[in-house]
Amino acid sequence: MTDQPPQIAFDNSYARDLEGFYVPWSGAAVPAPTVLRLNGELADELGIDADALSGPGGAALLTGATLPEGAASIALAYAGHQFGGFSPQLGDGRALLVGEVIDRSGRRRDIHLKGSGRTPFSRGGDGKAVLGPVLREYLIGEAMHALAIPTTRALAVSLTGEEVLRNGPEKGAVLARVAASHLRVGTFQFFAARRETEKVRQLADYAIARHYPDIADRNDRYLEFFRRVRDAQAALVARWVLVGFVHGVMNTDNMTISGETIDYGPCAFIDSYDPKAVFSSIDRFGRYAYGNQPTIAQWNLTRFAETLIELVNADDAEDAIRQLTNEMSAFPFHYQQEWLRGMRAKLGLVNERPADLDLVNELHAAMDGDNVDFTKLFRSLAQAVRGDAAPARALFNEPAKAFDGWLVRYLRRCGEEDIDNQARAAAMDLVNPLYIPRNHKVEEALIAAGEGDMTAFDRLLAILSHPFEAQEGAESYAEPAPRSFGHYTTYCGT
Ligand code: AMP
Ligand code: MG
Repeated sequence: MTDQPPQIAFDNSYARDLEGFYVPWSGAAVPAPTVLRLNGELADELGIDADALSGPGGAALLTGATLPEGAASIALAYAGHQFGGFSPQLGDGRALLVGEVIDRSGRRRDIHLKGSGRTPFSRGGDGKAVLGPVLREYLIGEAMHALAIPTTRALAVSLTGEEVLRNGPEKGAVLARVAASHLRVGTFQFFAARRETEKVRQLADYAIARHYPDIADRNDRYLEFFRRVRDAQAALVARWVLVGFVHGVMNTDNMTISGETIDYGPCAFIDSYDPKAVFSSIDRFGRYAYGNQPTIAQWNLTRFAETLIELVNADDAEDAIRQLTNEMSAFPFHYQQEWLRGMRAKLGLVNERPADLDLVNELHAAMDGDNVDFTKLFRSLAQAVRGDAAPARALFNEPAKAFDGWLVRYLRRCGEEDIDNQARAAAMDLVNPLYIPRNHKVEEALIAAGEGDMTAFDRLLAILSHPFEAQEGAESYAEPAPRSFGHYTTYCGT
């Protein structure tokens, strides 16, 4: 550890190119900043000295208490549909974009703080964050990253040394996170709702240059931009569904243009397969239920398309709407392609066959209503491919007729491919996680962390960082919550 503040080579394109899209702002004063956990691997990827980042200079930077040299420090404007209702002004109400860095692979990454104090976008909020939810975002984001799902990542969790009032006094904390960008569907909505078409164009040009530079010179670039975002989101949501992830608050301000998962609030993973699974306390009607996520992604993308109408054809709105609608209606197809590709991999199937969709749907129909642990099932199917079907079968209720019939068809289908079953099972184990963030384990870790004991958190993080490999003594981490854990409820806005 060193006292020297880390030297970071910032290059702040958002602040430079998008004046009027943000408010320059600094973090609140912090009584006693300390870094609780630092993501050393990510710091290294960014070319930042992890030692300096862990010390006092780093802590001041990572809580927003001091502005590092070269930082831009801005609060971004955005709007958004929250649970279907439009809020014309949200924005970084407790967050700051400190600046951008070019990482070791040449990628531009945002360094962003959450919980750094009030901003002009705070509305009634206190601008703060507390330890539990911040650690949750760290843990689940890292788990998603290890599952090869595009995501923002936590760089650090720091304590501010102050108490913040939530359900009672809680430890104030700041999350420093890294993202491909913080452009959201809601960023476009902010300016489109104000009929500031030139600003929407400026934003689209910026987003294209940053995320889809190969289309910058095309005449139809705005329509193609829409297609790219549509495809990125189709791929992302398919990956969520393939691992049983429920985002929980898919408002348009929580949907990125880059295709990364962002804003881990009340998210959770399913144990039993259940399309209606909902964890968030405020999602009373199941808008953001596990099985509803593709539909909502399409709904959000429709809101995005609405912001691009004048860019697609300034002279003929009807023509623009027709073109965008056309692209929009292809979303279910793209989603299904991605999902089916992922399902084939989960089942170890190498060739594509027209009947695959039926085969996959029949497996889901067999799971439905039987409380089948989604994660364990796919690991057990690899065992079935190796010759032992008992563990998979045991996940279904007796007499398991639907599953038995399905298994015969599946194994026959496997036998028709020119690949050895040992190799197939090994390939399955590389895409079907053994460990996901089981809700009861996450809760256990966060409760202990709140009491000052980080042992359970560190252990869980270490296990989730290698989700596909069996780890010594980690058997209980592969099991669903015991019945006594009951229904899991998560909270957001915390
Ligand atoms: P989120 O639920 O984190 O996606 O945030 C939704 C909106 O509420 C964003 O505009 C946030 O900046 C704002 N917000 C959430 N919590 C707070 C808070 N404690 N203080 C100020 N603004 C907040
Ligand atoms: Mg948000």
